[in-house]
Amino acid sequence: MADFYEVLGVSRNADADTLKRAYRQQARKYHPDINKEPGAEERFKEIGRAYEVLGDAQTRARYDQFGEAGLGGAAGMPDMGDMGGFADLFETFFSGFGGGGAGPQSGRQQRRGPQQGDDLRYDLTIDFDKAVFGQEKEIKVPHLETCDICRGSGAKPGSGPITCTTCGGAGQVRRATRTPFGSFTQVAECPNCGGSGQMIKDPCNACGGQGVKQVRKKLVINIPSGVDTGTRLRVSGEGNAGPRGGPSGDLYVFLKVKKHPTLKRDGLTINSEVNVSYLQAILGDSIEIDTVDGPTRLQIPVGTQPNAVLTLENKGIPKIGNPVARGNHCISINVKLPSRLSDQERNLLEELAGHYSNRGPQHHYHKSGLFSKLFRKNQ
Ligand SMILES: [Zn+2]
Ligand SMILES: [Zn+2]
Repeated sequence: MADFYEVLGVSRNADADTLKRAYRQQARKYHPDINKEPGAEERFKEIGRAYEVLGDAQTRARYDQFGEAGLGGAAGMPDMGDMGGFADLFETFFSGFGGGGAGPQSGRQQRRGPQQGDDLRYDLTIDFDKAVFGQEKEIKVPHLETCDICRGSGAKPGSGPITCTTCGGAGQVRRATRTPFGSFTQVAECPNCGGSGQMIKDPCNACGGQGVKQVRKKLVINIPSGVDTGTRLRVSGEGNAGPRGGPSGDLYVFLKVKKHPTLKRDGLTINSEVNVSYLQAILGDSIEIDTVDGPTRLQIPVGTQPNAVLTLENKGIPKIGNPVARGNHCISINVKLPSRLSDQERNLLEELAGHYSNRGPQHHYHKSGLFSKLFRKNQ
């Protein structure tokens, strides 16, 4: 993979104007209408892709941090926001889902403040056509919510958290360790208050002092058109609530798309096969085939060859974030030859065959060259 900054010929700290200028200049230089050198078109596409990423502050930041992996495989989607597509980026963050550990942003830096709750993963299988055209889907997600009796404090209403007696509110404890090399002081999280500096004297009955309770929440999620197996959707704030009123983590919906019996997906392209008779292939025909938009007529041109691929433009998968842009539906033609013939068919075909051997190109072939010599010798 080429470095996007190198592709545009700018330094890594180029500002937006410099990027834009460099992009225009490069794009003009390699535009396929102007530049007919081999590789120019590839280069032009690369330039477009580079600017698509670097021209947007958000995707640029992601690219700077994680490289191309941070952008998530699918074709450029700079304005996706919360809609997923950052697959690899998230995988970098979450080495262990649901392990009960702290969420990615909680902990260390915010030792004294309320911790953010865990992010959650929810696996959802959807139908092929729903993945193509999008869907509103209701799901029930078990997650932790802030206890509404104590409002997350974990303390009985009327009482409040008190300063931790172990650490005196510091959230940390110091331990002196003596070794042959001298005495070291280690700083560790307070085991009593978990670093918050506060403790509960009278725990809330509703949540047992946890400040959170397990709830199955009904959520309606909006699945955009064009998603595929592996797409992750982020529903912000629907992960676990943080302990002691801390902010909630996010919910990540991992999509799996069911297979379709006849349509196969390859990126934005849909592939399928159709059987036609040899007569339809030779004479041409108009047949009805299945597409994601329902039954559609397909013209079989005169003289269609076996395994020819016909294309229905704009009947493929919509691009995520830009559903107007759709791929194509490609249909491979299986030409079926009859294994049995009726007498009438046989007569007609033999007549046709005779017609060919008298007039067709093979006629000349038989009369001259090696083949005809061999042919004569054998007689
Ligand atoms: Zn409570
Ligand atoms: Zn403490």
